[in-house]
Amino acid sequence: MTRPVDVQERASSSLWDRYKAILESVRRTSDSTGKNSSSASVLAVSKTRSINEIGALAQLGQTDFGENYVSEAIPKIIEFSSHSMNWHFIGTVQSNKTKPIAQHFDWVQSVDREHIAWRLNEARRNCGAIGPLNVCIQVNIDDESTKSGVSIGFLPDLVQRVQEMPYLRLRGLMAIPRMQSNPENSRSAFSNLYELFQSLKPAASDCWDTLSMGMTSDYQIAIEEGSTMVRLGTALFGPRA
Ligand SMILES: *Cc1c(COP(=O)(O)O)cnc(C)c1O
Repeated sequence: MTRPVDVQERASSSLWDRYKAILESVRRTSDSTGKNSSSASVLAVSKTRSINEIGALAQLGQTDFGENYVSEAIPKIIEFSSHSMNWHFIGTVQSNKTKPIAQHFDWVQSVDREHIAWRLNEARRNCGAIGPLNVCIQVNIDDESTKSGVSIGFLPDLVQRVQEMPYLRLRGLMAIPRMQSNPENSRSAFSNLYELFQSLKPAASDCWDTLSMGMTSDYQIAIEEGSTMVRLGTALFGPRA
């Protein structure tokens, strides 16, 4: 009977060590850049992770979790409905999933078309008194044909349109730069995103405060270039199966 407890304790203490180290590294890197007044926040990307793994991290104080697939996410969100957690949808939004997304999530970081924004707005309108849905517009920063995200040329117009939707609260931009073997090669994409984020600020409302960029392999570089939110899966939970 004692062995499983030991194993469990060892597992959670290593999670704590890892979590503490990541928070410390995010804080230190944020302090070293003059681009933002406060430290970048950490979104725990929990796709493929179990209820137990998510619960363990929540117990350490993590509040924001990101999921890519609606059917995988909803049972998790329901399981933790009595906790005060914020759930971010970060996958591709299919138009037939806008209703459950608007109903269950607090944020959608991957809005990239007016049609999707409009459907989310209408679905949120019908959710009763839960307030507007926080959204970011996903930018296809390297103009990759295989990737979601609005191209830069259409971004100002989409910002304008989303801004007009009363059940969406436009918070900023999200992007996933092209995969690089050396994360240093993503620096210019991050820096371009930061410039875009700044340049759209005057046109956006006063809740334009989120630049979601940086993952496990490149989050420090993203923070150095002005990220306000890093999305970390592997760094927190270990490699995905
Ligand atoms: C999976 C995923 C992440 C996290 O990736 P890691 O490399 O495990 O940190 C971040 N953002 C998005 C959009 C993802 O799909």
